Amino acid sequence: MKTALITGVGGQDGRHLGELLLSKGYTVYGMLNGQRDDSAKLVEQELPKVIQVRGDLADGSSLARVLEETQPDEIYNLAALSFVGLSFSQPELTANVTGLGVLRLLEAIRATKMQDRVRFYQASSSEMFGKVQSVPQNELTSFYPRSPYGVAKVFAHFACINYREAYEMHISCGILFNHEGEKRGLEFVTRKITNGVARIKLGLQHELRLGDLTPQRDWGYAGDYVEAMWRMLQQAEPDDYVIATGKTHSVREFVDLAFKAAGMEGQADQFVKRDDRFVRPTEVDLLIGDSSKARRVLGWEPKVSFEELVSRMVENDLRQESHKIKNL
Ligand code: GDP
Repeated sequence: MKTALITGVGGQDGRHLGELLLSKGYTVYGMLNGQRDDSAKLVEQELPKVIQVRGDLADGSSLARVLEETQPDEIYNLAALSFVGLSFSQPELTANVTGLGVLRLLEAIRATKMQDRVRFYQASSSEMFGKVQSVPQNELTSFYPRSPYGVAKVFAHFACINYREAYEMHISCGILFNHEGEKRGLEFVTRKITNGVARIKLGLQHELRLGDLTPQRDWGYAGDYVEAMWRMLQQAEPDDYVIATGKTHSVREFVDLAFKAAGMEGQADQFVKRDDRFVRPTEVDLLIGDSSKARRVLGWEPKVSFEELVSRMVENDLRQESHKIKNL
């Protein structure tokens, strides 16, 4: 059976993918960096069969050691400083980890002479489209990143294409549009909203402070999207694929639907307050992906609709928050 290495296994996608690969019988190694004991605990609880290894995309020598130790057939590079908002205040760290870190990992593969046997997945991002050059966005759309995170992802994306062409490595990039779910971090707007709405419903919170409500995103369910990552690495030839639902919704629509899912339809204006701290210096206004290539070649399609996604996340937060009250 195959062995996979997932970097960033403690994140939303890492945990979804770990679950998927274990269900397929893989031996799964999950790389975490030394500072994240909370992530290590989470992975231990949710995925006890994942073998944890310590390494950091900021440290090339640790990557070579992890590769020697794990001898993977497939590598899924999901590690990154992944929050766009934070990348504005930590731009160098973002470039170092999210951008250069990928180059270090590719070099570590070459240094350990694994370039001919390993298949590599890179988590590219719709944030690379930024100020979009056409609508909808597909694999041929030009990039115009609008944040240090987006800039770093563009660097990583082209590093991957370059290594694929220069060394004939099996490297595929998934240009994933926003994907959310119960495991999403609270700093992202979707989870911030569903958690806030649940806490408002339970009387634990009295307002929800948000930035700009007009940006539009193509939001899918993370569980569906990790399936696409796996499918990319099962193809004979490596390639790049847009993964998206093809539908877009504003943050405002997400908010309204979340209140509705909590049985508080039409009450958003009472609780939502504008807070400029959450407004970004440059914004990505509209993302909508065209994933027809992935649908055709990989036979992939999203299963969870926008409405289902919002109600699943609200229900999950209501459950978690009421559980916390009971345990007080
Ligand atoms: P992103 O698409 O990777 O940046 O995902 P986010 O979930 O962080 O943000 C999605 C959109 O929501 C962006 O356009 C943000 O500017 C907007 N937004 C509005 N208010 C907030 C907020 O309070 N927190 C976050 N994270 N985003 C917000």
